[in-house]
Amino acid sequence: MKIRDFFTTDTCVLSFEVFPPVRDGTIARLVPVIDRLAGLNPHFISVTYGAGGGTRDMSVEIASLLKKKASVEVLAHLTCVGSGRDQIDEILREFRSEGVQNILALRGDPPAGETSFTRPADGFGHACELVDFIRSYGWFCVGVAGYPEGHQEAESFEADVDHLKRKVDAGSDFVITQLFYRNEDFYRFRDAAGRAGVDVPIVPGIFPVINYRQINKIASLCGATIPGELREQIEPVRDNDDEVARRGIDYAVRQTEDLLRHGVPGLHFYSMNRSGPVEEILNNVSVPGRKTA
Ligand SMILES: Cc1cc2nc3c(=O)[nH]c(=O)nc-3n(C[C@H](O)[C@H](O)[C@H](O)COP(=O)(O)OP(=O)(O)OC[C@H]3O[C@@H](n4cnc5c(N)ncnc54)[C@H](O)[C@@H]3O)c2cc1C
Repeated sequence: MKIRDFFTTDTCVLSFEVFPPVRDGTIARLVPVIDRLAGLNPHFISVTYGAGGGTRDMSVEIASLLKKKASVEVLAHLTCVGSGRDQIDEILREFRSEGVQNILALRGDPPAGETSFTRPADGFGHACELVDFIRSYGWFCVGVAGYPEGHQEAESFEADVDHLKRKVDAGSDFVITQLFYRNEDFYRFRDAAGRAGVDVPIVPGIFPVINYRQINKIASLCGATIPGELREQIEPVRDNDDEVARRGIDYAVRQTEDLLRHGVPGLHFYSMNRSGPVEEILNNVSVPGRKTA
């Protein structure tokens, strides 16, 4: 099923993100996680896409596993990094042959060791070009990324929103946002996107803090602001992983409840390949229309 259709039939489209396990190089450990996440009845599960052949092959394998064994709709991420048109065409054909109908079109981050993104020979320099290319197949539903605090490389917040509009004009059907911890950033972004003419659903990305080390890593990797309120809750218990997770999940529950009160069209949880935190959050919020058990 195409994800855009969920937005027309359901009040709140629920989704989770998983990533190919890089460390041990096999998906065996992900299988039980996928089973548990699928048991929470999401509308779809998304699979990230990394540079390097190994994780690419795994993205296809995981997408196939989700579709065929777990019977969950899948959103396959795809980036422009290191691939020309022929390679992108190849991977799109592979996704199609596995029945994948939904692609999250991304530019991608510079590969490790490089400080800026370089357009690959015969490839794409911005996500909007990839959206355009994918839409030319006439088969895929396409989503794109949005940034409530602006993308780190953007000349300004307004310029970034204009670039989002270009991605939507190129044919994207929905937007999933980067993680954020201050809902007011999301509302400001949603309003600015609306004023710029972005008229597709914008789904907030929620990343529950479940250990202390994540906090500074998150801030440095994607530039998300960690609000004082969250820091104040986590700092005093920083050496107690269980308590950090409890407080991080508590924060995510409150964040999610507030987003639902503000009528978001969906919720996208960054699962970090763990089902427990997402399950706990969902046990504590009431997602409109969600099927349980
Ligand atoms: C939901 C989500 C999922 C993600 N999944 C992955 C993943 O699986 N794998 C991965 O490697 N990364 C992933 N990322 C990270 C993403 O690849 C990076 O944030 C990347 O730096 C930007 O990708 P983009 O698609 O937003 O790029 P773009 O939309 O191309 O934007 C990149 C920068 O260029 C600017 N820009 C955009 N279009 C134009 C234009 N036409 N002219 C001039 N400037 C322009 C933008 O303002 C921005 O600063 C994900 C991010 C999100 C939010």
